[in-house]
Amino acid sequence: PYDVLVVGGGPAGASAAIYAARKGIRTGILAEKFGGQPLETLGIENFIGTTYTEGPKLAAQLEEHVKSYPVDVMKTQKAIKIAKNELVEVTLENGAVLQSKTVVLSTGARWRSLGIPGEETFKNKGIAYCPHCDGPLFAGKKIAVVGGGNSGIEAAIDLAGVVEHVTVLEFLPELKADKVLQDKLYSLDNVTVLTNVETKAIYGQDKVDSLAYMDRDTQEVLTLELAGVFILIGLVPNTEWLEGSVDRTARGEIIVDKQGATNLPGVYAAGDCTDSVYKQIIIAMGSGATAALGAFDYIIRH
Ligand code: FAD
Repeated sequence: PYDVLVVGGGPAGASAAIYAARKGIRTGILAEKFGGQPLETLGIENFIGTTYTEGPKLAAQLEEHVKSYPVDVMKTQKAIKIAKNELVEVTLENGAVLQSKTVVLSTGARWRSLGIPGEETFKNKGIAYCPHCDGPLFAGKKIAVVGGGNSGIEAAIDLAGVVEHVTVLEFLPELKADKVLQDKLYSLDNVTVLTNVETKAIYGQDKVDSLAYMDRDTQEVLTLELAGVFILIGLVPNTEWLEGSVDRTARGEIIVDKQGATNLPGVYAAGDCTDSVYKQIIIAMGSGATAALGAFDYIIRH
């Protein structure tokens, strides 16, 4: 059995595996896609100490760093079940069952997509999901934010300070964000809010140049010329497989304490799959380190 088995190979998992291995204990890491969300990221400008890097490069560096330690790296493996008996047991899709004294869950999250024409084509070519990451790329340009919940309105307020103009598109008849956020939004003079509209398609040549939406009252389809579309209709944690075993919030985020411990003894969690307030690479790496150190503490006490 392992001492620490890490499930998920993004920034949080890589960090947890390195911190565990550096304690000289038996460490394994398994991942469906080693590298995680950075594999889909172009420019990264907020990884502190590194002025600029690109997602696939960071993903390769994570793997290289993990492999510089005696860690069992199991790529293209998907966990489908976890159970706590004497040891923690993780079942893989291929039927194998791995045993470990402790487990760090770091299966990350995925952005909910609209599923409309143009969305796949223009990912990273004008379509963005993270205002902290990609906002400055649209400085002085017109953009839209799709989604009128807290994350959408926070993004619109944030982006309004950077871009020329923001149009917010909300499907429902009213915004769902907290009132303080709405008040702040409506106080800005370079923001337009469209409610009861359905985003239909995103168009462009090499990159985004316009968006089509339908007014749900009149059924009229209208076009907005713009350079960017931020889609903020929810982040979905990859935790469905933990149903019934690990406690999660109503949104499916794993509930962790300050050591990264979950409700299951010996099971820790880190990164975007947890109820951490902010979802960023540097934060995921920090919580991965915390979870590994928490797991190590657990091992020396049991
Ligand atoms: P992830 O990166 O999501 O990794 C999850 C890992 O778990 C993957 O290896 C996945 O394959 C694996 N996995 C999932 N389910 C299973 C399973 N059942 N079994 C086995 N393995 C599984 N953050 C920044 O700080 N700066 C940026 O510039 C930035 N830009 C971004 C741009 C885009 C387009 C996106 C999508 C995100 C961006 N982020 C950025 C956010 C950042 O990528 C995440 O916060 C970070 O990757 C979270 O790390 P994580 O390890 O928790 O999860």
